Amino acid sequence: MSTIYTGRVMKSTGSWYDVLHESNIVKCKVRGNFRTKGKMYTNPVAVGDKVDFIIKKEENTGLIVKLHDRKNYIVRKSINLRHRAHILASNLDLAIIIITIVKPKTNTVFIDRLLVSAKAYNIPVQLVFNKIDLYNEQEMAKLTELENIYNKIGYPSIRVSATEQINIDALRLILKDKNTVILGNSGVGKSSLINAVDENLSLKTADISRYHNKGRHTTTYAEIFQLQSGGFITDTPGIKGFGLVNLENENLATYFNEMLELQNQCKYYNCTHTHEPGCKVIEAIKLGEISESRYNSYLSMLEEDTQSKYRGV
Ligand code: GDP
Ligand code: ZN
Repeated sequence: MSTIYTGRVMKSTGSWYDVLHESNIVKCKVRGNFRTKGKMYTNPVAVGDKVDFIIKKEENTGLIVKLHDRKNYIVRKSINLRHRAHILASNLDLAIIIITIVKPKTNTVFIDRLLVSAKAYNIPVQLVFNKIDLYNEQEMAKLTELENIYNKIGYPSIRVSATEQINIDALRLILKDKNTVILGNSGVGKSSLINAVDENLSLKTADISRYHNKGRHTTTYAEIFQLQSGGFITDTPGIKGFGLVNLENENLATYFNEMLELQNQCKYYNCTHTHEPGCKVIEAIKLGEISESRYNSYLSMLEEDTQSKYRGV
């Protein structure tokens, strides 16, 4: 009998997986019969998975023989295979959304879409406002406004600068001993922040390589970086968000914290909070208790969902 080891999948490149066992990376393949399981997904094993493997002595490589249950996972709809999804990453403890007020400006619909996805996947979120060294008075006011909107509905935030090393210690503490997925538009400073948190890592910044690749390579692989200070960062290059699966219009509002709270108080139990009389959500918006930008995001997501159904996507 071969000894069975347990490890975490750090990277996947086609049919090979880098598995971290203690402090070693073992190159592993997946046992053949794995592929027949879980037909809903295009990949049998994903970055973040905990797996059991055996060592094939003659080759000095490993063979993955068992997948442990996933605590959670994020998916992207497969581009080629319509009804199957690609598991981007699994076993996430936290999602950090990197936001910038300018250079580039992060729009709130984008933030809210990520928040809905994270809630659907059961992943806690921390907002990280980067590039605070750049902002003028007006942009600082905008930052404060966003902080107020999101803090009020239960999302914590932190202000940092990757290049000026502002609040990086605090960020390191937030990431400590967790497996965190880092999300945000390209150019907001994701790579710069990872490098700032851990000087041993040297991810390419300024996106020269990534911009270049955009559109040409449709397949992007997630990768996990181990932090010296404790914890893991899951990076999903080129992926702006993650797919929403099985999220029907009828329950979209339940993924908006502030609407969920009012859900049972609307006159109609199946209120869509768009036109119904006796809608507490609409009332709360009029009173300024729910932010208009959040409501606009809700409406645009509703609309998009309806359209994609109409198109049969
Ligand atoms: P990514 O695409 O999200 O990984 O972004 P990068 O880390 O590649 O950063 C994009 C650009 O923003 C680079 O030119 C960085 O030097 C710059 N940048 C990143 N963080 C900061 C910051 O806190 N302040 C300023 N002024 N520039 C930053
Ligand atoms: Zn309502």
